[in-house]
Amino acid sequence: MNLLRDCYEVIGKSHVRLFAVALEKSMYDGDPYERCFEELLNRFDRMVSRVNRERDEKNRGLIVLAESSYRENLEVVASRIAKEGHRWGQLRNLADIPYFTPARNTRLLQLADAVANAVYGRYEHSHARHFDIIAPRFDQDGGQLHGLRHHTRNLWCMCIACVARRSNQQPEPTSH
Ligand SMILES: [Zn+2]
Repeated sequence: MNLLRDCYEVIGKSHVRLFAVALEKSMYDGDPYERCFEELLNRFDRMVSRVNRERDEKNRGLIVLAESSYRENLEVVASRIAKEGHRWGQLRNLADIPYFTPARNTRLLQLADAVANAVYGRYEHSHARHFDIIAPRFDQDGGQLHGLRHHTRNLWCMCIACVARRSNQQPEPTSH
């Protein structure tokens, strides 16, 4: 448990930008894994755009995925998005197609797996201990949270992603 906590503290104290999408499967008719992948691509691409604007640079991003049984599906989704764009527009800042590699070959993918576990624990089991350590690292800009999205039927979910989204979209409801 201490080792695991140390791993999360490495992430929490680093300068990485995290991205995660939590989706209640019942909210979506299609493949939820593909839907989240599409959203992650979009959020990552927009972050690269933002950083390029801020620094007047022309960085390109690369997506590296852990090998899994989803590989074939995700390759189909990635090539469709490259040709036709995604539901929010076009990807502009990716250097190449997504690459796949076994997670055991790279420490970054193992850390990404730890992040996924923390997000899953937070949303599926309400275990926020690890999530809270890494939460400050989700991509944000000027007080707006871009790196974490929660798709839920609960209109008044109090997680940081839902609270941030509501406060960006509309004024707080007043009581009558
Ligand atoms: Zn939420």
